[in-house]
Amino acid sequence: MTLSLSWEVQRITTKFEFKIARSAESYYDVVIVKISDGEHTGYGEAAPNKRYHDSKDLVLRYLENMTAHITALSVEDSQVRQAALEALFPDSYALQAGLDMAFWDLYGKQLGKPLHDIFGAGTDLPVSSYTIGISELDMIPVKLEEATPYPILKIKLGTPNDQAIMDTIRKHTNKVIRVDANEGWKTVDEAKRHIEWLAGENVEFIEQPMPADQLDDIAKLHDWSPLPVVADENSVRPEDVPALAGVYHGINIKLMKCGGLTNARKMVALAQKYGMDLMMGCMVESSVGISAAAQLGGFMRWLDLDGNVLIANDPYVGVGNEAGKLILGNEPGIGVRPR
Ligand code: MG
Repeated sequence: MTLSLSWEVQRITTKFEFKIARSAESYYDVVIVKISDGEHTGYGEAAPNKRYHDSKDLVLRYLENMTAHITALSVEDSQVRQAALEALFPDSYALQAGLDMAFWDLYGKQLGKPLHDIFGAGTDLPVSSYTIGISELDMIPVKLEEATPYPILKIKLGTPNDQAIMDTIRKHTNKVIRVDANEGWKTVDEAKRHIEWLAGENVEFIEQPMPADQLDDIAKLHDWSPLPVVADENSVRPEDVPALAGVYHGINIKLMKCGGLTNARKMVALAQKYGMDLMMGCMVESSVGISAAAQLGGFMRWLDLDGNVLIANDPYVGVGNEAGKLILGNEPGIGVRPR
């Protein structure tokens, strides 16, 4: 079987500037990769993230220079393929993810089956949160208005303004909130003070309270915390998971960090082995990346797959989102098509 590879850059624009503790952006360039066997085409998305030293330029350089290596990879043997992707593109997790996704999509199409069926994850998914980025306090009512259909909000704290942000939100809504501190609290005392306060604010869990390199400090929260503490920046690759047992209560898996569906499935198995809760998150991504991630959604306790509903110009159509409930179809593969 001869494979061919093509790709396109898509500039996706967020409805609002997307501001977290370390950066603010209003658009993102993602690379859509397509792998075809002549009959079926598999789609994947690379959404490079600066936090992991990845970039669109790096992704494009690799695609241009390594086309022949990519089209020589196996469609059927995901483990061997993933090892090769990691050896070829060690510093671009997003490209590993985009290619792995495209190969899985192609595989599903060849078999005529959706990936959630192949993975045994099913289509009964927990309700996803909707993210409200940090912004000027007077923008919060506007963002809450935009979030009206969504029952669970995710907010980004870890800023000098945490108290004012939360107070402003609570003036308008009592919805369940998930808090992502994005490594923003720097000492155990600061983290404890915030978590104790947030536990009384109808908050469901705390994501990455402290910097990823302070694992010993984060471990001090484990037995004390009134709220589950979930790893994100600490939970990047499958090999990170064993060290997080006893430190975090759960892990946030993102395809763009872990290198795709093959590694995400490994992380699912590891978290289950260590008795940790599972969450699936995303970057700002189009429906290609989100639809791929949703194929594993049935394994998760928490979903944060809102990347495609945060953008104004999604170039693809895939998984539906009805008030946070993700609707998976029965199309083969990841179930996406160009809009
Ligand atoms: Mg996070």
